Amino acid sequence: MRENPNRTPTVKEGTVRTFSEEETIELGRAIGRRLPKKVCVLLTGNLGAGKTTLAKGLIQGLGVAEPEEVASPTFTLIHEYGDHVYHIDLYRLDKPEQVATLGLDDIFDKEAVVLIEWGERFSEWMPAERIEIRLTAIGVDERQVEIKNIL
Ligand code: ADP
Ligand code: MG
Repeated sequence: MRENPNRTPTVKEGTVRTFSEEETIELGRAIGRRLPKKVCVLLTGNLGAGKTTLAKGLIQGLGVAEPEEVASPTFTLIHEYGDHVYHIDLYRLDKPEQVATLGLDDIFDKEAVVLIEWGERFSEWMPAERIEIRLTAIGVDERQVEIKNIL
């Protein structure tokens, strides 16, 4: 994995707005550069809110993939970038038994950044300590992004 020398373990809490897909990716890059090495980031919000878009930026900020390498995990559930970054999308699952087969506990035990879409639907599987980023569509291109550290 390519290490990002700018990484320091803090993410500022707060609420910001973005006005384009590119701005959300840029915000993701900025947050990604500041993520701890071991953390779960729960991305919440409706379909189309921008979770995958933000995840693209986060993954770029972590320095583990080129922009064109970042895909939506909806059809594979789990995308792994090296050993240290995971992007998971639980949208297509509806039963806790299905989640049990994914090996999430093993992933959370690693020194890894784990980005999860729709994880709040299976909250009993989510780590108690995590960063929550809630995206809300305000207009066609406007999004509200709320960042909270839950420790
Ligand atoms: P989700 O993963 O939450 O379902 P996606 O990131 O896949 O959402 O899709 C977000 C959609 O909204 C994309 O089509 C994107 O182009 C569009 N969009 C428009 N404005 C924004 C914005 N400010 N931030 C993020 N996405 C935006
Ligand atoms: Mg998505």
